[in-house]
Amino acid sequence: MNKNPLVLILLGKSGAGKGTQLDLLKNNLKLDFIGTGELLRNRKKIEDFTGKKIADVIDNGGIIATPVPFKLWMDSFENIKNSGDIENGLIIDGSPRKIKEAWLLDDALDWFEWNKRVKIILIDISNEEAISRLTRRKTCPQCGKIMMFSKDMEDIENCPNCGSKLVKRQDDTAERIQKRLEWFDDEVGQVIKYYEDNNKLIRVNGEQSVDDVYSDIIKAIENDND
Ligand SMILES: [Zn+2]
Repeated sequence: MNKNPLVLILLGKSGAGKGTQLDLLKNNLKLDFIGTGELLRNRKKIEDFTGKKIADVIDNGGIIATPVPFKLWMDSFENIKNSGDIENGLIIDGSPRKIKEAWLLDDALDWFEWNKRVKIILIDISNEEAISRLTRRKTCPQCGKIMMFSKDMEDIENCPNCGSKLVKRQDDTAERIQKRLEWFDDEVGQVIKYYEDNNKLIRVNGEQSVDDVYSDIIKAIENDND
């Protein structure tokens, strides 16, 4: 058990490479992990009002109201606390997207006494870079694997999982990407400013190789060791 455990949350535009860095951090630092997508998919299996509504949003799009994932997070935090507390650190997959979510998360981390070493890592890429990456990423129509664009993947035409021919993602049109980026600047921009004002934000240049982004994150966490 760790008295002041590290709590990590990743922020970044789509295309910034959050998922890749999350996997690296989780596995290398042996972190406890909260996966919001997985929590919602499990909750969906209970076919009550909320379960059915989550299913509808997952299948047809829409917005899941803030209290829903928070309830799941609180339950998961409670489980971690009761099974001997955070061991090396905690990483949360799923980040505050609105300022009220950042406030709520702060309150929750205070409650569980995990508020001493909260680090919010912003993997920073420009809008131009996000557009360039997203318009080039491919997906597998068979198994759903998403291949993020990167230099060494440029020539891959078939899915590494199942061998099917990869196609471009339908929702990765320039117009939709532009909308998502505007939303990021508006909503998540406030979240970033909030964490910056509270000295919790670590900004990392996301326009580097995966390894360099990772080592910058590790250096920033170590330097910030208070
Ligand atoms: Zn596939």
